[in-house]
Amino acid sequence: MKFELDEDQREFKALLRQFVDREIVPVARDWEQSGRYPTEIVDGMKDMGLFGITVPEEYGGLDLDPVSFALVFEEIARGWMGVAGILGSHSLACRLIAMHGTEDQKRAYLPDLATGKRRSGIGLTEPDAGTDLQGIRTTARLDGDHYVVNGSKMWITNARYADPLPVLVKTDPSASPAHKGMSVLLIEADTPGFEVTKDIPKLGYKGTESCEILLDDVRVPVGQLVGGVEGRGMQQVLSALEWGRVNIAARSVGIAQRAHDEALAYAGERKAFGRPIADFQAIQLKLGELGTQVQAARLMAYWAADAVRSGRADGATGMAKIFCSEVALQAAIDAMKIHGGYGYSTEFEVERLYRDSILMSIGEGTNDILRTVVAKSLIAGETVVG
Ligand SMILES: Cc1cc2nc3c(=O)[nH]c(=O)nc-3n(C[C@H](O)[C@H](O)[C@H](O)COP(=O)(O)OP(=O)(O)OC[C@H]3O[C@@H](n4cnc5c(N)ncnc54)[C@H](O)[C@@H]3O)c2cc1C
Repeated sequence: MKFELDEDQREFKALLRQFVDREIVPVARDWEQSGRYPTEIVDGMKDMGLFGITVPEEYGGLDLDPVSFALVFEEIARGWMGVAGILGSHSLACRLIAMHGTEDQKRAYLPDLATGKRRSGIGLTEPDAGTDLQGIRTTARLDGDHYVVNGSKMWITNARYADPLPVLVKTDPSASPAHKGMSVLLIEADTPGFEVTKDIPKLGYKGTESCEILLDDVRVPVGQLVGGVEGRGMQQVLSALEWGRVNIAARSVGIAQRAHDEALAYAGERKAFGRPIADFQAIQLKLGELGTQVQAARLMAYWAADAVRSGRADGATGMAKIFCSEVALQAAIDAMKIHGGYGYSTEFEVERLYRDSILMSIGEGTNDILRTVVAKSLIAGETVVG
C-alpha cells in the first residue's frame, strides 16, 4: 500500500499549485469582496484544459482519474473555494452527459464543454425540494417532438453561464415511486421561457453566481432528453453526484489546508508577551490538531476518489464528504482563533475560509443525509469498515 501520489499526479498537483499561487491567491480577497467576476481566472482554467477534466479524450477532454480530479478542487479551493464552484457543477454536467448522453448529445456538447467555450451547471434543487429531489414540481409534458417544461429551480450555480443546463424534471408526475417518472433535459440558455430571474445573496461562495431559474412553457426538443429514454433521471443524477461528493471533500481539504497554512504562518509572526504565539502550548495544541485533521482529511478524500475508480462508492464518498467538510469548518474556526481579533477582520484570509467552509456541509447532499446514506451502505454490506 502506497500513501503517495504517482509521478503524473505529483506533477499535475505542482502545476495546479503554481497556477493557484500566481493567478488566484493574490486577487482572491479583493475580488471576492468587491463581487467582481473572476474572468481572468476562468480564462486561465480554460488554458489549462480544466473545463474538460471529466470529458473523455475522444471528445477533447482530459478525462482525469478521480484522484487527479480531486487534486484540481483541492488546489483551487486552497486559493479561493468560490472559483472551484465554477468548475464543480460544470464537471458534473460533463460527466453526466459523458456517462448517460446519447452519441448525438456527446458530439453536440462535449467538445465545446471541454474547452470552456460552452459552460454548464446542474439544475436539481427547487424552492420546495432539495434533499427530497423526488418532491420536485418541475414538469415536462410531451407535445409532438418537444417537451413543454414548467417549474422553477433554486440555488443553481453557474446559471448565468450554463448552456446547456441539465435540468431534472418529471416527465411522468404520477409515477410511483416518483423517481421512475423523472428525467434530465439539456436546456439551452436561449430557449424562450428559460429565464435566470435572480442571483441569490449568500454568505460566501462568491465568485460564482447561484440563481433562481423560471421555466415557463419552455419548448425543449425531444432529442435533448439525456440518454433518450424517460425515467432514468434520478439514477443519472445520483451517479454524477458521486463525483460531486469527491469534489466537495477535496474542496474541503483545500480550505482546511489554507486555514492551516495561514494559522501556522501567523503563529510564527505574531508576538505576545515578548514571544511568538507559536511558543505557547495552547496555540501548539491547536496547530497540532489542525495539521493532524488536515492530513487525515486529505487521505480520506484521496481514498474515496480512488474508490470511485472501481465503480459506485456511495459509502466511501459519503464518509469523505462528511469528514472533510467538518474538518474544513473546524480548521477555519481554529485558524480564526489563532489570529485573535485579526481573524475577524475582512483584511485577513481566514474569515473567507470560515464563510466558505460552511457550504461544504450543505452542498451535494447535507452531511446528515449522507450519514444515513453511509449507514444504509454499511447495513447492506456494500461498504465495509475495517
Ligand atoms: C451556495 C449554494 C449553491 C448550490 N448550488 C446548487 C446547484 O448548482 N444545483 C442544485 O441543484 N442545487 C444547488 N444547491 C442546493 C443544495 O444542493 C441544497 O441546498 C441541498 O441539497 C439541501 O437542500 P435544501 O436546501 O432544500 O434543504 P432541505 O432538504 O430542506 O433540508 C433542510 C434540513 O433538513 C434536513 N433533512 C432533510 N431531509 C431529511 C431526512 N430525510 N432526514 C434527516 N434530515 C433531513 C437536512 O439535512 C437539512 O439539515 C446549492 C445550495 C447552496 C447553498
